[in-house]
Amino acid sequence: MDERYSRQVLFPGIGKEGQDKISEKHVLMIGAGALGSGNAEVLTRAGIGRLTIVDRDYVEASNLQRQQLYTEEDVAEKLPKAAAAKKRLQVINSDVEVNAIIGDATPSMLEELVKDVDVIIDATDNFETRMAINDVSQKYRIPWIYGACVGSYGMSFSIIPGKTPCLNCLLRTIPMQGLTCDTGGIISPAVQMVISHQSAEALKMLVEDWDAVRTSFVSFDLWRNQYTSLKMGKAKFSGCLSCGEERTYPYLDSENMTKTTVLCGRDTVQIRPSTQGEISLEKLAGQLSTLGYTVKGNPYLLSVEMGSERMVIFNDGRALIHGTKDLTHAKSIYQRILG
Ligand SMILES: [Zn+2]
Repeated sequence: MDERYSRQVLFPGIGKEGQDKISEKHVLMIGAGALGSGNAEVLTRAGIGRLTIVDRDYVEASNLQRQQLYTEEDVAEKLPKAAAAKKRLQVINSDVEVNAIIGDATPSMLEELVKDVDVIIDATDNFETRMAINDVSQKYRIPWIYGACVGSYGMSFSIIPGKTPCLNCLLRTIPMQGLTCDTGGIISPAVQMVISHQSAEALKMLVEDWDAVRTSFVSFDLWRNQYTSLKMGKAKFSGCLSCGEERTYPYLDSENMTKTTVLCGRDTVQIRPSTQGEISLEKLAGQLSTLGYTVKGNPYLLSVEMGSERMVIFNDGRALIHGTKDLTHAKSIYQRILG
């Protein structure tokens, strides 16, 4: 144990006291894609006490170029990312308690999860979830670290309730390129750079070195050799609905969460059922096979081939329809299978 973290303890910013703090802290990672994988690995190796990872997707071949926790075996097994991440992280550091949650980080789920969380890391790929994280962070006064990347471009910002502006404040001044979905591809070094910014900030927060936390909004383009750091002190907006005097936390209203979404940069539509409840994947697999569908699965999901489309169903009734961006068409496929 002592040997394991010796280099980190030698670092003056952390020391023995900081290491003890890290080992008692709980980080909530929203997303287990590229940013989630990297941040989770850094924190697991650093000896975080507890790590909760939420992700709605499963591992595919196109993830392997940059999502460092996953292997070809995970692709072959179609393992949900949260489950595959947990498996890998526990091999890296068995002292860390890893909770894997396979599902969509809805506002209500976030409110459930944040109760004893010290820091939230944004590793999502969509605006809707980020704004919900932002509101949860303000409501429960938990710091969070925004991060986004696309192509060779990336950005990060640390949000401490009561101290810094929030993401909703920032939207008034910064064009958030990374908040919108991009299909232009991505290189792994851009991901790694954002991971470095986010995980370094997380370590500062976990050892409670609040003065060291970066107050500027950082962005860079590794291909164009650009690096900018914008001071954000004046961006705090007193009328902000997320962090201002008359806050309403607009993004925690579940009615605002769309039930059907086209996933970032992919020919994939996600459909969430309007009612909560587990479905029996085994039973469904049996029924679909009888109807002549080719069905494959694991304990977490079922994959159903349907001509040019493929539907993946999770046991909470949520489904991903691959091969289309047409919401109406995707809904009709969903209804055909899950009625
Ligand atoms: Zn605000």
